[in-house]
Amino acid sequence: MQLIFATHNANKVNEVRAILGGKFDIVSLKEWGWSEEIPEPFDTLEENASEKSRVIWEKTNTYCFSEDTGLEVDALNGAPGVKSARYAGEGRNFSENVQLLLKNLTGVENRTAQFRTVISLRINNQEFLFEGVCKGTILLRETGSGGFGYDPVFVPEGAKNSFAEMTMEEKNKYSHRRKAMDALIEFLKTYESN
Ligand code: IMP
Repeated sequence: MQLIFATHNANKVNEVRAILGGKFDIVSLKEWGWSEEIPEPFDTLEENASEKSRVIWEKTNTYCFSEDTGLEVDALNGAPGVKSARYAGEGRNFSENVQLLLKNLTGVENRTAQFRTVISLRINNQEFLFEGVCKGTILLRETGSGGFGYDPVFVPEGAKNSFAEMTMEEKNKYSHRRKAMDALIEFLKTYESN
């Protein structure tokens, strides 16, 4: 059964393919021949993920799943959240987003936060949502040079280092995206098409 993974990241596609074996034929957007950007206009991760999978399903008539992730900081009432990629404004980069976050947390003692990933799967005329959460804290300054996004300022609960100081393997022990993906994969492994 063919299943489109709404991502342009080939590593993510290969990872899911390897885990699922031959049960599903996982196809990336590029492999499908899809090059348009899909808008993320909503105020929640759930609505954006859902909209992406809906658009793909309607245009391709193929089962699919999409994901959306945000960093939710408690002292900022959940910001940057769904706007994590463009916190400092449209077209801004990771570093500018991180600098704005640190500025907005200047003098703030409560630095707890969480990354949250939502996956929307559309299969057999039904939608299924999966979630992965990674709780942690925001550092006072950037530490480490690996990873991407807010990795240099985020230390997951139970760890001593920031995500940017970890190997991919270490990060995956804590990662929100990995947890959401694991929930999706567990579901697909036991899914019987009818
Ligand atoms: P996306 O939905 O995976 O594109 O994530 C949206 C934004 O959230 C990214 O542009 C990053 O700024 C941030 N983000 C998502 N996942 C991570 C992560 O694992 N580490 C650091 N930042 C992340």
